[in-house]
Amino acid sequence: MTASDPHSGAGKVFLVGAGPGDPELLTRKGARILASADTVVFDHLVSEAVLDLAPAAAERIHVGKEPGHHELPQADINRLLIERARAGRCVVRLKGGDPLVFGRGGEEIIDLAAAGVPFEIVPGITAASAASAYSGIPLTHRAVARACTLVSGHLINGDVDLDWAALTRPEQTIVVYMGVAAIGIICRRLIEHGLDSATPAVAIRNASVATQHTVTGTLADLPGRIAQQNMQPSVIVIIGEVVRLRERLDWFGR
Ligand code: SAH
Repeated sequence: MTASDPHSGAGKVFLVGAGPGDPELLTRKGARILASADTVVFDHLVSEAVLDLAPAAAERIHVGKEPGHHELPQADINRLLIERARAGRCVVRLKGGDPLVFGRGGEEIIDLAAAGVPFEIVPGITAASAASAYSGIPLTHRAVARACTLVSGHLINGDVDLDWAALTRPEQTIVVYMGVAAIGIICRRLIEHGLDSATPAVAIRNASVATQHTVTGTLADLPGRIAQQNMQPSVIVIIGEVVRLRERLDWFGR
């Protein structure tokens, strides 16, 4: 019996990163634990192909989390995890990408820890990494980008609250999660704070799966192009000089 034996008797919660969609991009550890799940609690970003790795008899609970449409409030999700684990179940909390990158996984495990429920965390490939690899854009690159900043582009009261001055520092890649609705505001603020409006930017939808769709442009014209194509979530946006490398490195789109 190992520390990560899903069937050690007492219940436990495994916070598992499902990766970006392609089931082959789930870790072997995540797949092994999922195959032993009694209960799987998942949100809308988790692909069917990954869910199919859970036993047919496992209880599957969809807890939603679409933008502006939370099917189950976070406190209820946390309570559900605690309650199932206390009933002795092997509970897999499956989250798209990595559970600790804009996934509110932290909030869930804080509650689990407070309740004394044992848990483990299995990392996953976050959307930034998937979009980077599957669109041929290195997030860092010698002499081009020495830093990469992940930000949430979530709209709050019609605006996006980010440290714009910090985001305009040179040799930096910016990756915007949840930013498609606010892309116009984000590009405008970056230009206002000093980034060149010709800075290349790309929006990638459904990174790593067959339906992957990419729209390229600059800070000046990307919002218009996204609107023109009526791009819907899940979209991630990469901004910075590294985007130019895609012309040579886009192996997946070819
Ligand atoms: N925990 C997740 C992020 C959840 S926030 C992770 O680590 O990837 C949800 C946002 O993630 C989406 O709005 C989108 O910006 C991004 N995202 C998730 N999966 C994606 C995919 N396959 N392609 C493009 N963007 C994705």
